[in-house]
Amino acid sequence: MIEKYLSFITEKVEAIITDSLKENLEKIEYLDKIEKGEVKCAICGKVIKLNNLSLIIEEEGDYKFICDDFKCYSEALDRWG
Ligand SMILES: [Zn+2]
Repeated sequence: MIEKYLSFITEKVEAIITDSLKENLEKIEYLDKIEKGEVKCAICGKVIKLNNLSLIIEEEGDYKFICDDFKCYSEALDRWG
């Protein structure tokens, strides 16, 4: 019962996060590129999708995207954090 409830909450929260992520990506004009699979992780080169994006780094008007691999996440923070 509680587990069902928790997974319901998790789904709702994920939907909200995805919505605001989409909005932000649209603002910087990257939503299309990500949906087409044209954006790659700046560290490992894996294709970035809405569900594996962990960081967006802005550098001199350019954007770098980091996947949800912990190695990439921590290396990105080391390099640009
Ligand atoms: Zn990566």
